[in-house]
Amino acid sequence: MIEAQHISYSVGEKHILQDVNLRLSHGEMLAILGPNGAGKSTLLKVLTGTLTPDQGRVQIDGQGIDEYSILQLSKKRAVLSQSAQITFPFIAREIVMMGRSPHLVDRESHDDHRIVDEILYRLDAVDLSTRMFSTLSGGEQQRIQFARVLAQIWDQQGAYLFLDEPTSALDLKQQLNIVELARELSHERGYAVCMIVHDLNLARHYADHVMFLKNGRAVAFGTPEGVLQTRSIADTFDIPDAYAMKFAYT
Ligand code: ADP
Ligand code: MG
Repeated sequence: MIEAQHISYSVGEKHILQDVNLRLSHGEMLAILGPNGAGKSTLLKVLTGTLTPDQGRVQIDGQGIDEYSILQLSKKRAVLSQSAQITFPFIAREIVMMGRSPHLVDRESHDDHRIVDEILYRLDAVDLSTRMFSTLSGGEQQRIQFARVLAQIWDQQGAYLFLDEPTSALDLKQQLNIVELARELSHERGYAVCMIVHDLNLARHYADHVMFLKNGRAVAFGTPEGVLQTRSIADTFDIPDAYAMKFAYT
């Protein structure tokens, strides 16, 4: 289980996160939604140990996140960040293999290659794997990045998977491939999945719990039925009730 208690984070005078609490168990999927600039990516960075909060603490499996070494952490949780840029000339498969780097002793083993092949197959990305990464479309690059992130934790039961807008550049079928696979892995391997998405329908159909974040505060947290109501959608996204209603759980 990952547990965040009373998380606050500021840059200068600006409060980016204020008293955020959350809990996410193995086998569970949490969707975080909110307007641009709400603090979603910052929260993810705190949950993954990239940023240290000014106040509050994050515990993973009962241990403070700052008590894990970087190597321990990289075997426990994998992160698909919003701005994963790669400019060097790599073949797509090499990018996916990079996900294995925390596990490499000396060089890639037979198992590392098997894992990469399995993931490419599950993501329907075998054909992309021999292409130069830089020549892939935005959506294809995102799929390869997702494959890299999965390669990091593929053989780890009960790992944590964090996804920051994983479906933003993807067509409908590819969106489903990614979210369906994340869902399957949460069941198969007991992964705890935390994803930032903008699509309320996606959250509604796939997430076990939903958090609305606005101005750095968790303004709603609970089941999709509980959170995806006209009032909270309208308030969180500053839209008229008549629009919010269209997305609400009825
Ligand atoms: P979201 O992912 O919800 O769109 P972010 O977490 O990226 O939002 O950012 C939240 C707010 O904090 C934004 O207004 C952003 O400009 C600001 N912010 C994030 N990081 C920094 C930083 N290092 N310095 C100043 N402002 C920041
Ligand atoms: Mg963001």
